[in-house]
Amino acid sequence: MERSRYLIIGAGVTGLAFADWLEDDDYWVVEAEDEMGGYCRTVERDGFIWDYSGHFFHFRNPEIEAYLVDRMGDQAILRVNRDSRIWYADRYIDFPFQKNIHQLPESEYAQCLRDLHERPKEKGGNFKGMLYARYGRGIAEKFLIPYNEKLYAVNLAALDPDAMGRFFPHASVEEILRNADAPSVDGYNATFTYPKGGAAQYIDAIAQGVRSDRVALSERVVSIDLNAKVATTNKRQIAYDLLVNTAPLISLLGMCGIEYDSAVFSHNRVQVFNLGFDSKGPTGVHWIYYPQRDISFYRVGFYDNIFDSDHMSLYVEVGVPWDVELSPDERGALKARVLTDLQTCGVLENQTLIASHDVLLDPAYVHITARSIATAANMRELLAAQDVHSIGRYGAWTYCSLEDNIVEARALAEHVGPAKT
Ligand SMILES: Cc1cc2nc3c(=O)[nH]c(=O)nc-3n(C[C@H](O)[C@H](O)[C@H](O)COP(=O)(O)OP(=O)(O)OC[C@H]3O[C@@H](n4cnc5c(N)ncnc54)[C@H](O)[C@@H]3O)c2cc1C
Repeated sequence: MERSRYLIIGAGVTGLAFADWLEDDDYWVVEAEDEMGGYCRTVERDGFIWDYSGHFFHFRNPEIEAYLVDRMGDQAILRVNRDSRIWYADRYIDFPFQKNIHQLPESEYAQCLRDLHERPKEKGGNFKGMLYARYGRGIAEKFLIPYNEKLYAVNLAALDPDAMGRFFPHASVEEILRNADAPSVDGYNATFTYPKGGAAQYIDAIAQGVRSDRVALSERVVSIDLNAKVATTNKRQIAYDLLVNTAPLISLLGMCGIEYDSAVFSHNRVQVFNLGFDSKGPTGVHWIYYPQRDISFYRVGFYDNIFDSDHMSLYVEVGVPWDVELSPDERGALKARVLTDLQTCGVLENQTLIASHDVLLDPAYVHITARSIATAANMRELLAAQDVHSIGRYGAWTYCSLEDNIVEARALAEHVGPAKT
């Protein structure tokens, strides 16, 4: 039997960052896929560069950005001022919707203002109720509810008021009114960075600090004996002192044979279509949000406007309910519908599709509720008592960014250390 002090499940950003920060290199990183990166992976095809879904970066800790960039030599990193829009009533309005209602047709603007003024006093004990209580019916029903229901693929009344945490672009009534006279672009990703070779270059930077002979690709952990501290993979058994899991928490519970109520851990899936065309489409814009219920996708991003290249290069995101499996035929039909919808929205005109790639992110956005928060915390605590630490976006069952993953991995390495300084 193999033995290592640390066993790390998953070579996504979290697992790699943990291995990188450890001073002790007696570890194995075991990754089910045949390459590193998890959801932060890049595909190059027929001259197009696509991620598994648009991954753009907005670092809050300069030292985390420096830690990555210092390892990237002369690789170009683009720094971009965000241009994000909403397609509404056959026109574009700036994102976020709630701060830009003055760009709506006049009667709809008046309706939104009236509803904002007359919004219900009670806070609303769920995400949907919160949207009505903070923004009134007009803003809630024209954009915030239909858009987020397409994204989360669930009734928003099932989510907690704070389900999106800092990623929800809240605006006070004063800010909404002020923005009509003095528009401002802000939010957590008003500017973002993107490596010219795709998001995976950040992963490559982290991996430089990880022993390549200790990363096992195409190896899946299938079960874990918590008492014996032995993990069984599809290839071997590995005894460990401490296990760090970055696979989805629900997968970990399954591996450990721990029963749980699957309804507590609901989530959406995101079907991503990366599409490359023979000529240019709309210019300037980086991504567009679509609240229309009869349009299949909730967001479309334009890599060509980030790279300033002359072939339209899109990622298209479709929210899929967690309990719906798409067969290959259904995925093909969805792709055909996406292309039709792109024409309906005016993104696609005479361009011809010349390259494509698709991937299903499952899970993509976990449904955060009071029960999911409490149950995940409880399970993680129980596991930690048995030297199993479940971290990362899906290991912790949360909503966070790649930078948050690095911060969390570093903190755990320091805690269970020895960590690099
Ligand atoms: C649609 C979408 C868009 C996003 N956009 C951004 C963005 O613009 N900016 C940003 O900062 N973040 C973004 N994120 C978040 C970002 O993708 C995540 O924070 C990050 O990728 C999580 O990394 P991780 O290592 O925790 O998990 P993962 O990337 O999921 O890595 C976990 C790894 O574990 C492996 N694994 C699973 N089960 C097993 C097993 N049994 N045995 C072995 N290996 C296993 C998986 O194959 C995977 O490689 C986005 C997420 C989504 C869904």
